[in-house]
Amino acid sequence: MNILVTNDDGIGSSGILALAQAMGTIGNTFILAPDRNWSVSGHVKTLSRPLRVNPVTLKDDIQGWTSDGSPADCVTLGAHGFFNVPIHLVVSGINTTANVGQDITCSGTVTAAMEAAIHGIPAIAFSLDTSQLNGEKPDYESAAIWAKKVVEIALQHPFAPHSLLSVNIPALPKDKVKGFQVTRLGSRIYYDYLDRRVDPRGLDYVWISGKEPGGINEAGTDIGALAEGYVSVTPIHLDMTAYHLMDSINAWNWEQPEKYEINLNRLEKSCC
Ligand code: MN
Repeated sequence: MNILVTNDDGIGSSGILALAQAMGTIGNTFILAPDRNWSVSGHVKTLSRPLRVNPVTLKDDIQGWTSDGSPADCVTLGAHGFFNVPIHLVVSGINTTANVGQDITCSGTVTAAMEAAIHGIPAIAFSLDTSQLNGEKPDYESAAIWAKKVVEIALQHPFAPHSLLSVNIPALPKDKVKGFQVTRLGSRIYYDYLDRRVDPRGLDYVWISGKEPGGINEAGTDIGALAEGYVSVTPIHLDMTAYHLMDSINAWNWEQPEKYEINLNRLEKSCC
């Protein structure tokens, strides 16, 4: 079995090395990851320029490849035969932070797995919830033991089309992790604000800033599972259609006359 290992933190991150070493006991690993950090870059497909792919030797003489493309580009390269072998599984991570709730829309870790799902390749994204570490060094080797367990269990079952698994591992000592919970996406709370400043040349700039995001601790969600010390396994589907809204939106007046008034009060009520 050929396993493509990628990430969004870059080829030099500790998380990809631990994941690749764990996967090496399951199949033939092919490491191909971006040459820089693409965290929070979303699903990026590079079509407007060529991609450079170069061999690289990682710690412990592990051979890998690095690309100037995005995490999703790395998956596309593997899926389209860069290694001249079929890829049977894509694993992405282990990311330096959790990817829960709305994070998955901007996570390079998860969108790399999404790209694999688009190509019809089984895919699992792994993220480490380092939010409670208080600056201590994350233990990726321990997290990789859980990642390996997930892969071994998942490979015993067929993967559903257009689907992937997003796995979040609590950064706890191994004996403190309680096991697995299959979860749904929870709800993040972001504390972003605009930090407006002036650069040394007198030009205005705005930096989206803010403390680490939080989330609603609700049972059955990824956020709830991590808070309780469980490894969260969330099945993700690429069909993001809001089916529950289709009937009501279909009932809107789609033959709207040219002149109409937008009811701002109603908009404010529904959006905030
Ligand atoms: Mn990252």
